[in-house]
Amino acid sequence: MTSGVLMACHDCDLLQSIPAVPEGCAALCRRCGTVLIRNKPKSFQRPLALLLAGAILFVMFNAFPFLTFKKEGLEHQTHVVTGIRQLADQGMEALAALVAFNLIIIPGLHLLASLYVLVPVSLNRRAPGMFTIFRYIRILQPWHMVEIFMLGVLVSMVKLAKMAQIVPGVAVYSLTAFIFIMAAASAAVDPHEVWERWEVPR
Ligand SMILES: [Zn+2]
Repeated sequence: MTSGVLMACHDCDLLQSIPAVPEGCAALCRRCGTVLIRNKPKSFQRPLALLLAGAILFVMFNAFPFLTFKKEGLEHQTHVVTGIRQLADQGMEALAALVAFNLIIIPGLHLLASLYVLVPVSLNRRAPGMFTIFRYIRILQPWHMVEIFMLGVLVSMVKLAKMAQIVPGVAVYSLTAFIFIMAAASAAVDPHEVWERWEVPR
């Protein structure tokens, strides 16, 4: 349950006092009907479950083979990390750094930071600096470019299919699932609910 707060409507600017919103309900603006606060049911359990699934998928797409190339009896297996190293070895250090940044470092940081905030919040506890970190999580989000990377992989798979047989590995499926799980986890977090734990220490 959220407690009463004074809030301005982000659509019509009407300042109004919002009463406690029971779980599963929403508070609407008195004048224009815009949703001001939505108290999603079990607001921390769902994102936490999704983030834990995301953590498992993150480990999987880094640990398991990404693509296997087969040609004339020869087989060549690549992993996400070996692919990045090969880019660097071929003199494309900037591209290798960009891929590592957008595919491993940022999503990994996003995952860790989200867990660092949501685990204590769901237990009604506080971790040092968690609210500052929560603010930065929103800045990290646009740097997630896993989707763009997947699109690039699909395009190259279609192009390379004429030259060799390409078998997608466990990492391709894990990475695809990771994209959807992380999007669902971000959508499941109610920022109001997190900020409220800051304002109302229990
Ligand atoms: Zn309004």
